[in-house]
Amino acid sequence: MQVTGLGTAELREVPEPRPEQGEVVIRPTTVGICGTDVHVLHHGALIDPDELPLTLGHEFVGEIVEVAGPPQRSQYPALGRLLAPGARVTVEPLVPCGSCLACRRGRPNRCGRMSHLGIWRDGAMADAVSAPVGRVVPVPDALDDTQAALIELYACAVNFVDQGRVEAGAHVAVVGAGPVGLATAQCALAAGAATVTLVDPQASRRRFAAAIGLGEASPDAAAARAALDELTGGQGASVVFECVGAGPAIDDALSLAAVGGRVVAAGIPTGAVTLDWNVVVTRELAVVGAFASSWSFARTIDLMAAGRLDAAALVTARVPLDDAVHALNDTARDPRHCKVHLQVA
Ligand SMILES: [Zn+2]
Ligand SMILES: [Zn+2]
Repeated sequence: MQVTGLGTAELREVPEPRPEQGEVVIRPTTVGICGTDVHVLHHGALIDPDELPLTLGHEFVGEIVEVAGPPQRSQYPALGRLLAPGARVTVEPLVPCGSCLACRRGRPNRCGRMSHLGIWRDGAMADAVSAPVGRVVPVPDALDDTQAALIELYACAVNFVDQGRVEAGAHVAVVGAGPVGLATAQCALAAGAATVTLVDPQASRRRFAAAIGLGEASPDAAAARAALDELTGGQGASVVFECVGAGPAIDDALSLAAVGGRVVAAGIPTGAVTLDWNVVVTRELAVVGAFASSWSFARTIDLMAAGRLDAAALVTARVPLDDAVHALNDTARDPRHCKVHLQVA
């Protein structure tokens, strides 16, 4: 499943990946379609058009079929199983350089020389994908393939919640009730938030949020602010997650924050945005970015295995890889759908 040009996705025969020393080849079984995939395909977001074709796919589970070099242990000590052929694994798809200051400080998602499966190197919407062994994460039997293919999304949400410093009893708001917003809402609750107020203008998304137990979402920021004022005696949310990445949604996020509150910018805008920055200054808001995951796969797996995250509830469609073009062009962009999974095998 390759992007061959802006807005053009094709299922093509390509050579099997040749793993470099220290890489593994994985045969994916389930691959999620991420909003980023749609962004890359239809808006050319993040990618260099000269680097096409590109195989999409960075949320996946599969089985190791080849290891270039001796089998190694996972870089996650708690999961330290041998990464040998036959192992069921997922991949933390951000590939950091490993040697810069950010990497040495344990923040691979701040690496200035990072690559990323499915964005800057070939991804998993294929019969085979190669990945550096250090990014490969064993999946426990307690998680099925549906859950395992959602670890990446939830690991990002865990990082967002870390960046938000959500405290027990906090009243939190999430702008955007797509897969990222819903995963972030679940992770905030798992971190001890007392309430999560979701905002989304799309009625189908609000209905879906309610159906998976996240309560009644607000159609706009004014309604969300009223709901938050009720909960907090007029203070607003102590932490707000912006999971859309567009100017109006960011303004909405700022308007929901309590004085001195924290606003986590998790949505990636496709261009420059215009904001009412006055709110940040005069209400002393802390605005912090949150990008991808940062060594958060093991904690995410623990939360899922403990039943603290209802990840599988997000999946509304499962389609064969053969139908990936239609799934990327239509199903994944249909607001009546949440997470779309491709079945490779
Ligand atoms: Zn993604
Ligand atoms: Zn680095």
